[in-house]
Amino acid sequence: MDSQRLGNELKKILPPGRVLTSSLERKMYSYDSSFHARFRSFVPDAVTLPRSTAEVAEIMRFASNNNIPVVPRGAGSGETCGCLAVRGGIVLDLSGWDTIEEVDAANMQVIVRPGVVHYILNEHLAGFGLFFPPDPGSTRMCTIGGMVANNSSGLRAVKYGTTEQYVLGLEVVLPDGRVITTGGTNCRALKNVSGLNLTKLFVGSEGTLGVITRIRLRVWPRPRARGIVMAVFGSLDEAPAAVLDVYQSGILPSGIEILDSSAIQAVNMYKPEINLPAAEAILLFEVDGNPAGVEWEGQKIVEITGKRALSVEWATDSQRMADLWRGRGVVAVAAARLRPDGSRIFAGEDISVPLSRVTEALRRIKELGREFGVAVVNYGHIGDGNVHTAPVINLENSDEVARANGLVDAIHRLAIELHGSTTGEHGVGAVRNQYALAEHGEAVNVMKRLKETLDPGNIMNPGKLLPPGEE
Ligand SMILES: Cc1cc2nc3c(=O)[nH]c(=O)nc-3n(C[C@H](O)[C@H](O)[C@H](O)COP(=O)(O)OP(=O)(O)OC[C@H]3O[C@@H](n4cnc5c(N)ncnc54)[C@H](O)[C@@H]3O)c2cc1C
Repeated sequence: MDSQRLGNELKKILPPGRVLTSSLERKMYSYDSSFHARFRSFVPDAVTLPRSTAEVAEIMRFASNNNIPVVPRGAGSGETCGCLAVRGGIVLDLSGWDTIEEVDAANMQVIVRPGVVHYILNEHLAGFGLFFPPDPGSTRMCTIGGMVANNSSGLRAVKYGTTEQYVLGLEVVLPDGRVITTGGTNCRALKNVSGLNLTKLFVGSEGTLGVITRIRLRVWPRPRARGIVMAVFGSLDEAPAAVLDVYQSGILPSGIEILDSSAIQAVNMYKPEINLPAAEAILLFEVDGNPAGVEWEGQKIVEITGKRALSVEWATDSQRMADLWRGRGVVAVAAARLRPDGSRIFAGEDISVPLSRVTEALRRIKELGREFGVAVVNYGHIGDGNVHTAPVINLENSDEVARANGLVDAIHRLAIELHGSTTGEHGVGAVRNQYALAEHGEAVNVMKRLKETLDPGNIMNPGKLLPPGEE
């Protein structure tokens, strides 16, 4: 069906203004935040802006009857081309469907529509003394629907886990237009082990199994206090060893971040006033909870890390904590300052490795950078082995782009070799599905069968998650 006719059919389903068909409007939906989207244009045939479950269901019925691909989209902050129409079709932009339907404080849960932005939800929950703990760096952009679809998390996953731990139930529109509620049709319980866990199946399914239209999330009481320890190390090996020492002392910090020497250099070039100490590694431990517990844990971490570190500082004053945290906050942007014509690319950026192999991963990534002639900056969530690598290249130089692609492929393969994963946070989309078989083996065939069962026509976000050409 050509774009014009498709648009006309969709306009019979949605009210005026909620179907976009002009080439400029469609082009606006041809990218996300990924490196790969810079080089390939995936312009959808039509964009729709549904605002109700009934509208989504009708679009899905129409698409299913006409065998047209449908791609759900939140804020488009994904790093893997996940929300792009790689096989054409209809994009469902859910970002404007952003109602917080109910804060059920008595039952410690909240019910939202998919387009609610993470930061806005937590601002709202703060009024109830509650919060939704997963904390992606894209908090001011990404939607809860996108977070659930990608099982997103952030630097506090060490203590609070990822989105999946908080999803109590979902309303999902299936590819044929049927609407189901997972986690019990009218359930408001926090614990529920009845039936197959379909909620977990849809969390992290990256829009390949259905459209998430309503989300029931568990929320937690906001911690009363917070503190930060900064520990500076003269040797890279001492940093993961110090993390293990802290765990073995019985303390579970809410975040443990590492900046290696490349990241320290980048931060100091970008914001000299931050003036991080020149070292092989810096660790930032965040602890939270009640004030007395926070003080005890902070002092204990100082004592433990002090045995290995060159220097250690403990802060609970909000200004000082902000100063200590600032280096970590700006590193993603600072990376580009390594060279005047450089851009930081989001590719190979979130591998995950066992804790015992973090140092090896950081060293090998540096070596790979030298081998491919690409500058890299390393930082990340060392507390759970989620290494963030920022390759820095001149995007106008095709030779550098090719070398960066080689480097990124090698980083992904390294993650699997080290018994880790190609992605600890950002997902698979259309850029890591080539590693699905290497990562999951025979389990990929079970994933394919599940996909075929729910989506026999393969209209739901095709070309993602499963090995290319095999869905
Ligand atoms: C600066 C920056 C920092 C980031 N930091 C982090 C981080 O710390 N941790 C992290 O996990 N990620 C991070 N990300 C990646 C990204 O923000 C997350 O993956 C986020 O959850 C995506 O949300 P979104 O609304 O932008 O989804 P989109 O990018 O629009 O979509 C992502 C995927 O979800 C699917 N999808 C979206 N909505 C629905 C729905 N309602 N139903 C079914 N499928 C749906 C899409 O089809 C696509 O496959 C970062 C990105 C940027 C740009």
